[in-house]
Amino acid sequence: MAKTYSDLFSEVRQNVKTLPLEELKQRLDKANGRSFTLVDVREKDEFRQGYIPGAIHIPRGFLEMQAEQKLPDKQAEVVVYCAGGTRSAFAAKTLAELGYTNVKSANPGFVRWKDMSYPIEEPPRFTEAQLDRYSRHIMLPEVGEKGQQKLLSARVLLLGAGGLGAPASLYLAAAGVGTLGLVDADVVDASNLQRQIVHATSRLGQPKVDSAETQLTDLNPDVKIVKFQERLLSDNVDRIFGQRWDVIVDGCDNFPTRYLVNDASLFHRIPVVHGSIFRFEGQVTTFAPFEPYNGPCYRCLYPEPPPPHLAPSCAEAGVLGILPGIIGTLQATEAIKLILGQGDPLVGRLLTYDSLRMTFRTLKLRRDKSCPACGENPTIKEYIDYEGFCAGVGH
Ligand SMILES: [Zn+2]
Repeated sequence: MAKTYSDLFSEVRQNVKTLPLEELKQRLDKANGRSFTLVDVREKDEFRQGYIPGAIHIPRGFLEMQAEQKLPDKQAEVVVYCAGGTRSAFAAKTLAELGYTNVKSANPGFVRWKDMSYPIEEPPRFTEAQLDRYSRHIMLPEVGEKGQQKLLSARVLLLGAGGLGAPASLYLAAAGVGTLGLVDADVVDASNLQRQIVHATSRLGQPKVDSAETQLTDLNPDVKIVKFQERLLSDNVDRIFGQRWDVIVDGCDNFPTRYLVNDASLFHRIPVVHGSIFRFEGQVTTFAPFEPYNGPCYRCLYPEPPPPHLAPSCAEAGVLGILPGIIGTLQATEAIKLILGQGDPLVGRLLTYDSLRMTFRTLKLRRDKSCPACGENPTIKEYIDYEGFCAGVGH
């Protein structure tokens, strides 16, 4: 005789271990209590209204298909829950049949959890337009809705809206980095347009920060632009860096600014993705001489600027127009990874690119314990405006 639903359910209940909500709450409260994976098996619409913090979402209907990918360790403890305890009991049975050895069903479920005023988390809320715009990010497990939300909440400061800042800002805006700060005192000149693709012939003579804002907000209206039409100096650096930036993308290529950026970013503890270009060659690295990165800073490599007469010439040097596109795009990639917390950042590594040979190389950079800025006994206590160098900014 065929089983009825109540036969099936009572059979399942007898065989599935349950975990009372009070106990689940206690285990979640413990700092190291997260020795298990919590799985929400409700439907997408229910999950969107809120879930138990830290839960991963596998709707009951997708459990058999997604379990092995999302729950790779079959010996690990898994706690499933639904709204009232029925779907989760069936889900626990299914997981046991798939070979999971330590599965419990939280009892009764999310409805009671919410009634008890236990903490809940809500998934990021996107508009339909945003779900569409960022769909190729959201499909990546390494980004997903959470990662996209991080990008939208992130603040990146670009030093220079020139050769490096142009491609970097375009890709950061396209990716949905919610706030972009632009520091640049210059106006758009016709000789910029061979490489500074955020600007346009129709905006010649405009301040670069205004021209870039027009292009970036047209590309992505989600992005807010914070403009600083000024040169970065010791007397404005704290005001500019002090506005809670997550990452600095440095596209200024002159010695005084480079040292100032180094010392101020160390003081404000903001990672700096540094890029520079010369003729056909470019390089990128990330300076973050503090937790959790603990890499070198610029002064670990070059403690003091060379005397002005020995510094590389700042006279207008030629540059292949595409080169800053590649280096600036690498910088934007680094910034996105730092925001998402994914991959290996270029901390302690210098990536060099030679466009004529078409080669990339990576050199190791080491932190120096006797560094005057980030070492054990730092001697740099205040910002220094090094004089005697050219003042050019942004390639
Ligand atoms: Zn250092």
